[in-house]
Amino acid sequence: MVTRRDILKSAGAGTLALGLSSQPVFAAAEKAVKMEALMPPPKGNRVVVCGGGWAGLTVAKYLRRENPNIQVVLIEQRPNFFSCPISNPWLADLVNLDFIQYDYIQPALKYGYTFMNDKVIAIERDKKRVYTTRGYIEYNYLVLTPGIRYNYAPWFGDNKELIRLTKMNYPPAYIPGSEHIALKRKINEFEEGDFVVTVPPGAYRCPPAPYERVCMIAEVFKRNKVKGRVILLEPKDDIAPKGPGFRAAYDQVYLGIVEVVTKASIKEIDPVKKVIKTTAGDFKFTDANIIPPQQAGELVWMADLIAKDKEGKPTGWADQDPLTFQAKADPHVFFAGDVISPALGVTYPKSGHQANSQGKIVAKVIASRIAGKEIKPGSLMPENVCYSMVNGTPQEAIVINVNYEYNEKENKITPRPRTTNDRSEALAKATYEWARAMYRDMFS
Ligand SMILES: Cc1cc2nc3c(=O)[nH]c(=O)nc-3n(C[C@H](O)[C@H](O)[C@H](O)COP(=O)(O)OP(=O)(O)OC[C@H]3O[C@@H](n4cnc5c(N)ncnc54)[C@H](O)[C@@H]3O)c2cc1C
Repeated sequence: MVTRRDILKSAGAGTLALGLSSQPVFAAAEKAVKMEALMPPPKGNRVVVCGGGWAGLTVAKYLRRENPNIQVVLIEQRPNFFSCPISNPWLADLVNLDFIQYDYIQPALKYGYTFMNDKVIAIERDKKRVYTTRGYIEYNYLVLTPGIRYNYAPWFGDNKELIRLTKMNYPPAYIPGSEHIALKRKINEFEEGDFVVTVPPGAYRCPPAPYERVCMIAEVFKRNKVKGRVILLEPKDDIAPKGPGFRAAYDQVYLGIVEVVTKASIKEIDPVKKVIKTTAGDFKFTDANIIPPQQAGELVWMADLIAKDKEGKPTGWADQDPLTFQAKADPHVFFAGDVISPALGVTYPKSGHQANSQGKIVAKVIASRIAGKEIKPGSLMPENVCYSMVNGTPQEAIVINVNYEYNEKENKITPRPRTTNDRSEALAKATYEWARAMYRDMFS
């Protein structure tokens, strides 16, 4: 667990390394990590939700719906919400920014929770306290919904300079913010050559998103009559999910623009010479969207609630009860969204729809517990729907729907996927209807 003391210690260590007196920095850090309570101690039940993305917004709203007496505080570091879903069509100007950007004030006022625009910097589970840059808040229940963090270590080890150069020059645009805007500018300004998109190894946010992004970049190149190719470097044996649907789009809509290279695990990246060495050969690129491996967001590490493998090494993802999403090590902490680990034989896709669906379950489980009741494990299961835009003119999409069944006897979860790989304009319309419904659910 990262505590306030650890933060102060690391601030001091930094100063000593510079050969300066540690005193001023300790004083500055003391000031930065205030001990002031941001709210009086909870009178009734207070749930603090850390991370206002797809999962956190849903937990906050549905907790208040379940029981308006629960005091809910949502802490989010960003001033406004930018949606990763539909950000790929936005890259190709199929929607405008208003469609994917929302304010945090309206839902907080409407559903009666407190929105705090602040960064969580420490968690003390023994004291049931969350520290932000401005002070601390006490909780009865804590929900950690920070999404993902990038993990360049499998590619670069601890080489911070290589990581910095790669991230800055080839932003992943997998966490909302400046990176998406930078990527949009890059693809619109691209004149000629090879634009590489990498698919991360291991579990990562929205498995089909890199393939959809390739279509949308190719759409911009086609529209701008760019003499260039989009090269997709896929570490797996083939692209999946929705592989046939994406393949058909690459071969029919973007023929000659998109090239897929499979079994291309990255061995080395030289961000200066612009070369990626893979198990399928070396690729020199003009520009790139380098999407790195991923892990659960920082807050789960801070709370010391990362799952461990058989050898005791961190898996990178939260250690949750597979059916209630409660932290295995702490009955007062819950997770939802991209942070969670595979469960009972199934790897839930890290998607906005899943995060929303899990958020509703977590809200019910916590509200029931507060009411002194327990929900039957497995009676509430998440679901997933994921559309991908594979053509911009006319707009056409493909889709996968997945339901999950829990078998109590075998203690196993079985996914039931249904994929439509035949792209259509009707599915493009359904994509936007889905997104509108999700934004309505979280914001209005
Ligand atoms: C390009 C792309 C396309 C996608 N398309 C789809 C799609 O079509 N359909 C779909 O269902 N999913 C899609 N996804 C996946 C979807 O975006 C994620 O699965 C979803 O955002 C996960 O929700 P979350 O709440 O776990 O994380 P997030 O939505 O990322 O929310 C986490 C929040 O926590 C905040 N946070 C983190 N640390 C702190 C801290 N210390 N203090 C305060 N706040 C903090 C972050 O700022 C962030 O707002 C796509 C993703 C990408 C990248």
